[in-house]
Amino acid sequence: MTDRPEGNIFIYCDDPSHAKHVAVTNFYPVHGSPGHWNERYASRAARGDKQSGQTIVDDAPLREGSRARQQKGRDVRSRYLLTCRKCGGGRAVPAREENLFAVLDALASKGQSKVALAQVAANL
Ligand SMILES: [Zn+2]
Repeated sequence: MTDRPEGNIFIYCDDPSHAKHVAVTNFYPVHGSPGHWNERYASRAARGDKQSGQTIVDDAPLREGSRARQQKGRDVRSRYLLTCRKCGGGRAVPAREENLFAVLDALASKGQSKVALAQVAANL
């Protein structure tokens, strides 16, 4: 077992079809940037290369308190596609970062360090 960053929240899939919990990914809080999280993918689930986040650029107005970054003069932000490797992409949970981070903040405030993907989806 590798060390996990302080405040790490582990997301797993507990679909009844799985014999045991399947790692999805991890997020850990960014020091000095409250409400901001970085992904640290579960090593066995990562399958090599990709994290689930992707950068999107769209025209939807940001809600108050959400974050956008400037990239090449445009506002960009990230969206995550949280995928259980056993359930597959058809059941992946899409989450804009501002929504996902709010869920993570709420879990952290309750001292939780792990959460089922279905619970994340229910709270987005
Ligand atoms: Zn699953």
